[in-house]
Amino acid sequence: MNRKDFFFKPRDFRSIDLWKDVTEEQWNDPLWQLKNSIHNVDQLKRVIKLSDYQEQEIRRVVDELERQGKDPLRITPYYASLMDEDPFHPDIPKEEKGSDRLDPIFWQSVPTPANLMFPNTGREAAMCEGSRSYGAAYQRYPNRVALFVAQNTSCAAYCVHCQRAKSLDATTDVNIEEINKALFYINYNENIEEVLVTGGDALRVSKKRLQYVLEELSKIDHVRVIRIATRVPVVLPMAITDEMLTLIKESANRYTKGPAKYVYFMTHVNHYREITADFAAAIKRINDHGFTVRNQTVFLNHVNDYFLTLAETFRRMLWVGVHPYYLLQCHKEKGIVHFIAPIQVGQIYMKHLQGWLSGIYRPTYAVNIEGGGGKVLLMPLNFDNLNLNVKIDEKISESGAKVHTWDDKEIYDYEALGRATPQEYKEAIEIMDKFIGRKGVFVPKIILVDEEGNRIETTNRTKLPQFEKQKKAKLLGYKVDKNGMPITNPATIASELDQLYIKSEYKDKR
Ligand code: SF4
Repeated sequence: MNRKDFFFKPRDFRSIDLWKDVTEEQWNDPLWQLKNSIHNVDQLKRVIKLSDYQEQEIRRVVDELERQGKDPLRITPYYASLMDEDPFHPDIPKEEKGSDRLDPIFWQSVPTPANLMFPNTGREAAMCEGSRSYGAAYQRYPNRVALFVAQNTSCAAYCVHCQRAKSLDATTDVNIEEINKALFYINYNENIEEVLVTGGDALRVSKKRLQYVLEELSKIDHVRVIRIATRVPVVLPMAITDEMLTLIKESANRYTKGPAKYVYFMTHVNHYREITADFAAAIKRINDHGFTVRNQTVFLNHVNDYFLTLAETFRRMLWVGVHPYYLLQCHKEKGIVHFIAPIQVGQIYMKHLQGWLSGIYRPTYAVNIEGGGGKVLLMPLNFDNLNLNVKIDEKISESGAKVHTWDDKEIYDYEALGRATPQEYKEAIEIMDKFIGRKGVFVPKIILVDEEGNRIETTNRTKLPQFEKQKKAKLLGYKVDKNGMPITNPATIASELDQLYIKSEYKDKR
């Protein structure tokens, strides 16, 4: 891997039929980007290669999701330019099983027939916001709340895997009274130290609303930290402007008494193909204004469910100033069940990243428990709680497990994977294999159940990944010695180093 040139290179927009006459100035204008986002299949097929059948299937899915009140196809031109021209045969290295993959940006931004599958997933609704809210404030923990400020489906692009699939319909809009009730509650509850301003996307609301919310928070003495949840740096980096960042900086402390409130940006990168020069420039602008950027990655089957993909995503983020802090298990929500990867596999990857990547960019693996139970940590430990000798049927990812929430509740039958009948599963595979044009690419991990809901088996239980030291070193691109290992103790080669040092430019340097 070339560490000097690690940015993913988008396609040149002038080589894409839909934008061949667009100027550089237009392309870099966020308003132009939003106005020219892809909203229908006629536009999409001028950007990526689709067969007649694929086109017809995407139309069918988009129409159906629109009938359900969603706004399911919305891709900024910039984000669309990250997709390979032929997303069904992307240029992904063989170390990441490239021939068995579709383009990761395609999976995240274009609805496929899989989004209409597996309708009875078992228990779902991990977010369950309505039952723990006052106005637009949602609370799960003692000292922090999420403050929803969405205005007219405020995300810059629609992510197909969105875990707020239910709430982000085409009319999402939080009115000012709900926001005022939330601000009242935050002021009332002196335990609230942190407020997560979120949307959809906190940076896609009007300047007036953003300024109002931040200024009101600046007046509340017990609020110490404001977090801004946004995917704009990923899907629309040109919208991260100095003007917007100055507004945030000034508003968040406009009426602060005492120490300044600290502002964090929370973003959402899922794949290293999202780490481009434009993304890095947006992050630099944020950092230059004195804000810290942290990231939540969702562990997504078909997108980033591979050791090297995760490793590259985390390390490249850190190289541009983003701290990965959570790897989140995908929720069980209707329409996104095919994105759920088994917890056991995620734990193995996290175990094998330890030591090979530094602790500051190895995120915590966690799951949000249904019904607003909060995050449950899934991190493997170095004393073996993976139980590698336990039969796969008895593992957390495959069947019900007992989990403990942060407030000492026990949930006995937590199940990470979605459910379907064998018939539903068989039909789903047939439809998706035909859509993709080959077998073995669509591999949902599903618990098959009979008519009474009794478990029969889990699909696609391949052998759990095994890693040797040498293989990890090679995958991560480290230089190795004759034993296949990178240097981890320079003292063992001190005499060799001494000889080289004497001849080097560092000797006698002042
Ligand atoms: S930006 Fe976040 S909230 Fe908005 S659609 Fe994407 S995942 Fe969902």
